[in-house]
Amino acid sequence: MIRTATAGSLPKPAWLAEPEKLWAQWQLQGDALEQAKRDAALIWIKEQEDAGLSTICEGEQFRIHFVHGILEHVAGIDWNVKTKMGIRNDRYVVDVPTVTSPVKRKYPIHKAEAEFTRAHTTRMVKFTMPGPMTICDTIADGHYGSRVDMAMAFADLLNEEARDLEAAGADIVQFDEPAFNAFTAEAAEWGVAALERAKRGLKCKTAVHICYGYGIQANIDWKKTLGEQWRQYESFFPTLDASSIDQVSLEFANSKVPPELMRLLPNKDVMVGVIDVATNEIETPEDVARRIEAASAFVDPQRIIACTNCGMAPLPRHVAVGKLKALGAGARLAAGE
Ligand code: ZN
Repeated sequence: MIRTATAGSLPKPAWLAEPEKLWAQWQLQGDALEQAKRDAALIWIKEQEDAGLSTICEGEQFRIHFVHGILEHVAGIDWNVKTKMGIRNDRYVVDVPTVTSPVKRKYPIHKAEAEFTRAHTTRMVKFTMPGPMTICDTIADGHYGSRVDMAMAFADLLNEEARDLEAAGADIVQFDEPAFNAFTAEAAEWGVAALERAKRGLKCKTAVHICYGYGIQANIDWKKTLGEQWRQYESFFPTLDASSIDQVSLEFANSKVPPELMRLLPNKDVMVGVIDVATNEIETPEDVARRIEAASAFVDPQRIIACTNCGMAPLPRHVAVGKLKALGAGARLAAGE
């Protein structure tokens, strides 16, 4: 058997939020919105189960954006003080909110969502959150004076949240760190340490997802500047392999990441991206099985979790469903089932 999972996000149904947009507005308000989020999560739990995935997520149906979905519930951030910031090492310039005093959770943020997911599947439940370095790359600092100090403060906040998610029944807590690929030296210097701080005391499995971003134009343009071989992972995989994080998610499908870099993770479960999220073309089960077999040259199949390259939030819904089915069927094919 080859285990299967997604990176996390899935498209929102058109009645919940405007489709095929990363930062879509909700279509409903109040109690109707809260009910609609649960309905959407339920659909995706069922779709993932039907596709035969072994690990189930709520598809991030409860949050509008993967970082701001958590930050809007954090005290110490002034949303009226917008700072222009070039994020992911100046890949895009955006107006971001500013940290003006110590950051603190106002209340448990995602706990009820994890309980809801747990209540509706008997399979492994994974819950995703942004990692400390990626949060710090999406918000301006007007208080801590050092990016490392701010990251460690967010790591403490994420740790409180992760403990709640574990108590709610999550089997895996995943931190998303796309910023690692933009700040490769810092990732090794303190990014991995911040992750360890965010996961301390947890008994459930922990994962980190590191990608080259959603399949949006800014990322596609950026990837063109990275040359023939994308070796970013090489800078921090050894540090990550020595850490206590259990699973590492990487890009592989249609990627210029040299596959031998997977050899730098001999002590980890590797979530291998066998589904390309930058194209609407739906893989066949054979495509997926071929990619799993190719990855098997570098990682024992027992340590492979067949996965998507990144979240599927911006894709059309029917494309995401097709890709889930291909993922499940391809993993079964590769395992000879
Ligand atoms: Zn990603």
